[in-house]
Amino acid sequence: MSKTELDETAARTSLVTVCRDANRLGINQGTSGNASIRWADGMLVTPSALPYDSMTPDDIVFVDADGTATGSRRPSSEWRFHLDILAARPEFRAVLHLHSAAATALATLREGIPPFHYMVAVAGGDSIRCGGYATYGTPELSAIAVAALEGRSACLLANHGMIACGASPARALALAIEVEALADQYLRARSVGSPVLLTDAEMTDVLARFAGYRSPSPATGSAGAQASGAVS
Ligand code: 13P
Ligand code: ZN
Repeated sequence: MSKTELDETAARTSLVTVCRDANRLGINQGTSGNASIRWADGMLVTPSALPYDSMTPDDIVFVDADGTATGSRRPSSEWRFHLDILAARPEFRAVLHLHSAAATALATLREGIPPFHYMVAVAGGDSIRCGGYATYGTPELSAIAVAALEGRSACLLANHGMIACGASPARALALAIEVEALADQYLRARSVGSPVLLTDAEMTDVLARFAGYRSPSPATGSAGAQASGAVS
């Protein structure tokens, strides 16, 4: 096998692994959800409606930049938003879509996650938006997803689920786990009261610390100056 073939097998395997991990962790179920990774001039994406336990790397489908699929299976019904997000956001290599319980419950209220906890900054801003509703698999849903992700690496989709993006499928899953935990914490707080939201200034401070946390340059000064928690 050539290096390219080995790399492609690893990329395909990473998609199977991330879907199985999400179901094993209890943040997705059945054949809901899908995953993609940037590949050549397009992407590799999970097939539609195939149980993850029986999915193999050979079942992963290649979709080129024009949306033409190559493979033995049908690509995920959500191939369009995967392709459009990867095209709009060159900084991401992977997109993960899940129907996790808390994020989906919150998305049925058509509400995003406000800055009730500083970790909301993990998705790159002072909130995690909830995009509007459109039928699954449609170009309308893709446009909604791309807009809800502007300046963010995660979003909710009304009456549907969530999307998390990252440098790899594993990074996208790590972010999805954080988003699901935040949605769960927010719903719990909301069930007994009105959580106090952090101010713009407080979130600006956290976002600046997260940016520093991601920077590879050596830290100078006090070791306590860097906040932990950034995922991507
Ligand atoms: P696929 O099985 O076609 O990927 O669909 C699952 C899903 O979550 C649709 O939004
Ligand atoms: Zn879905």
